[in-house]
Amino acid sequence: MTAFDFFEAAELPVPEVSAERAEQIAADQFGLSAQAVELGSQQDANFLLTDPSGGPVGVLKIANPAFSRAELEAQDAAAAFIADSEPIRTATNVVSAGPAGIADVGDRDHDGGRLFARVIRYLPGGALSGDAYLGPAQVAALGDLAGRTCRALAGFDHPGVDRVLQWDLRHGMRTVGVLAPHVSDDVRRTCVESAVTAAWDALAGLAEDLPIQVIHGDITGDNVVLGDDGLPDGLIDFGDLMRSWAVAELAVTVATLLRHEGSEPATTLPAIRAFHAVRPLAPAEAEALWPLVVLRAAVLVVSGIHQSAVDAENNYASAALDSEWRIFQQASAVPLAVMTAQIRHALGMAVPGGHISGDAALIRGVDPGEILRLDLSTESGAMDGGAWLDPDAEDRLAREALARGAAGHVAAVVTSFGQARLTRSATLNPESPATVATGVHLWPATALDLTAPWPGRVETTCQSVTLTGAGGTVRVRGAVQPAETDPAVVAGGQLGVIDGPVWIQVLRHGTSTPQFVRPEYAAGWLDQVSDPLVLLGLPHTPDLVADSESLRERRSRAFATVQEHYYDDPPRIERGWREHLIGTDGRTYLDMVNNVAVLGHGHPELAAAVARQWRRLNTNSRFNYASVVALSERLAATLPDPLDTVFLVNSGSEADDLALRLAMATTGRHDVVAVAEAYHGWTYATDAISTSLADNPNALSTRPPWVHTVPSPNAYRGEHRGPEASKYAPEAVSIIERLAAQGHPPAAFICEPFYGNAGGMALPDGYLRAVYAAVRGAGGLAIADEVQVGYGRTGRWFWAFEQQGVVPDIVCVAKAMGNGQPLGAVITTKAIADAYRNCGYFFSSAGGSPVSCVVGLTVLDVIERDHLQQNALTVGDHLKARINALAEEFPIIGTVHGSGLYMGVELVTDCTSLEPAVAETAAICERLRELGVIVQPTGDRQNVLKMKPPMCITRESADYFVDMLERVLRTGW
Ligand code: PMP
Repeated sequence: MTAFDFFEAAELPVPEVSAERAEQIAADQFGLSAQAVELGSQQDANFLLTDPSGGPVGVLKIANPAFSRAELEAQDAAAAFIADSEPIRTATNVVSAGPAGIADVGDRDHDGGRLFARVIRYLPGGALSGDAYLGPAQVAALGDLAGRTCRALAGFDHPGVDRVLQWDLRHGMRTVGVLAPHVSDDVRRTCVESAVTAAWDALAGLAEDLPIQVIHGDITGDNVVLGDDGLPDGLIDFGDLMRSWAVAELAVTVATLLRHEGSEPATTLPAIRAFHAVRPLAPAEAEALWPLVVLRAAVLVVSGIHQSAVDAENNYASAALDSEWRIFQQASAVPLAVMTAQIRHALGMAVPGGHISGDAALIRGVDPGEILRLDLSTESGAMDGGAWLDPDAEDRLAREALARGAAGHVAAVVTSFGQARLTRSATLNPESPATVATGVHLWPATALDLTAPWPGRVETTCQSVTLTGAGGTVRVRGAVQPAETDPAVVAGGQLGVIDGPVWIQVLRHGTSTPQFVRPEYAAGWLDQVSDPLVLLGLPHTPDLVADSESLRERRSRAFATVQEHYYDDPPRIERGWREHLIGTDGRTYLDMVNNVAVLGHGHPELAAAVARQWRRLNTNSRFNYASVVALSERLAATLPDPLDTVFLVNSGSEADDLALRLAMATTGRHDVVAVAEAYHGWTYATDAISTSLADNPNALSTRPPWVHTVPSPNAYRGEHRGPEASKYAPEAVSIIERLAAQGHPPAAFICEPFYGNAGGMALPDGYLRAVYAAVRGAGGLAIADEVQVGYGRTGRWFWAFEQQGVVPDIVCVAKAMGNGQPLGAVITTKAIADAYRNCGYFFSSAGGSPVSCVVGLTVLDVIERDHLQQNALTVGDHLKARINALAEEFPIIGTVHGSGLYMGVELVTDCTSLEPAVAETAAICERLRELGVIVQPTGDRQNVLKMKPPMCITRESADYFVDMLERVLRTGW
């Protein structure tokens, strides 16, 4: 029999084979006594064979009779060939029955075709089936797998590969031509046909340069198998093996990615880069890729509709229709030229083009020196104080600039080409907003003449004047057209008058380009346009989005790498506003982790107070000035008696370190008791008492002998859980008593009064009362580390120790106290403070400086005035209630710890064993970042989402967080 030709035999209904018959075939032909369960397929009959214990024996594949034995042999040979040459698991034959393990089962289908059966190795690991979200690592791994397959198959050949499949994109146009009439929806059919025509046109000039080889032809989520790391490393279903364009291997994979939740053309770039890294794309292949993706998407749509028409009972084919349409919509969502330029850019193949200059100026008689630039980027000072949120900000700032410049000969104010404008951004946005300008705005000081930079034809509408000529197309929106217009103009000829704000765009190739585009597509769109400022005589100054990648590289060279950064591929954040962080591309992120910035980011009042004080005085606390006294009095007033004496330092580490020294000086002892799983700082002493494994994996083994720990009083997953957690206190008490009995009575017991580092959980009731009594009973002091949890964050209490109904001997605070300015304090009793005299004297050069004190006072003022502790309570309670409601539906949420705006959402893979969902927590954080939320894992197991946002967070923002978390839990991470 000759190889299959789709155009000869278009209909391929799945052979009718029952599960019973499949079991019989397995027994008769392969000697396997197994149970058969049908698996879905477009055109073959596939069954999973299992042994009596349910263990997989293999996959029985009964090929569509339209395919010849040689074709099946080729598929088996290719699978074996790939497994030999690349680290890819493939589904090779397990049981031999005649040549190449292929059995003619003797059955005939209704047309008399032979049914050939094989048993293929079952690869464990599961596939990426369905439409759930795929993260960039999975996307890249699919591209890598496609690249390796393509690289391996370049050396493979077999007579069974010369077949004519509808999946061979070399026949894409013809396939769509044959099958499109089955698409009954006229709108969809027209869309598909016109997209295919454009794609085919784009391919026309490239086809000759595209290498041809054998390809798998169907590397999709359904046909890969996952390794232990959750990334695909196995390949199944060689049914579409064929000779075709090599780059089609990648196009198929890229198209399949577009079916997944949250995917879009830009999210496929990691796959394209990964493919290119193992099997470099030639320039023609890079050019052909996106047209092929569109073609593949179109073939999927028309084939799916056709298949479900000819084989109405094929649920597999019908269920795929919606996904196939999504693939097509996404593939054609961005113009071919734009996506191709984007791909070239992603692969480092972009050739930077010069910017078009004219034979004459676009505006007559304006000296470029009289044009003022308006910076609307994230880093522009004009954006301070949330100015970018004002819808009229651009116009207002431009008019202010004009007004300021009137005396100094300013002819016009212009924006920058390619700039990501923060004014075009928004908060709480799951998708990056279109911020990047593909042209410029211009505000004239007085009416200006718009003239043709090159000869061409003018087209005017009520909104715009467009000149098209050899230089390209200039479009000016908002210009007043002359009464009389001859469509043909010469260079320098009058086009109109600019007497108000205008938008100017220069199109290179005529591709209609939106005014603002999303940063992910900026490289592709900017390739279609040219900088209009060059037509005004200004130099093109690249104002592309400040690059986060190269900054990260510089950081890794200049900054100690032990100082880690959030995220593998962090956005470049150069501004903050309230509870939002803002990237240089204008993307905003809801900040759920910055507990330090209690008042919020970019606080104008704080900034003004600091600036004022800097101008006036900044010195050290040995001088006599008011703010150091005022701050000390204010702090002491927040605390119960007898805590009335204040030391001012610069950080939490310093505060805790000083507290230890005070305790040692007071008691004359050296031993300290701390709780396990805690963090207290980085100095020598505070590091010694920090036993959090997340911060230092060697913490327990490197602990010096003067540090003693009591078990982590973790009521959720510690040794004692729930009501049993009351056992932690007596346990700690007996450890302290034993130390005293052994001649090591502790100088101090230190702990966070609300267990921040373990995920923000309350200590068991009565815990501190009992332990403080024991340590005091042994002559030691009680230190409360309020560095994270103090200052009203828990909502119900200003100081977290109040929750336990105790009063410590020493309280340490930092973080919130300075809203991010280095500022910390130790507050204790006069007697304890005085004991420090034994150690000499205490001085910190910057601790308690006038600037720091003004910061400290302003922070306290704003917390009080804006009722931020109350906000922490109301928004925190709302947030907690909503997450608890999510927990009812999603068992991955083990529990929600915390109070007010100090919360921890603990994620588990099993609610009974409480197995920490470590990889899931990391992946959920990554996906949330894509959706515009910054949240990070915490705790020794890194399975707790730490939620401690600025205390000014609104209920709307809290709701946004929960909505996004819900989206991720529902659609995957
Ligand atoms: N104590 C606790 C409880 C902390 O969380 C931290 C910081 N994470 C510190 C002390 C140290 O504070 P700093 O980073 O300001 O030195």
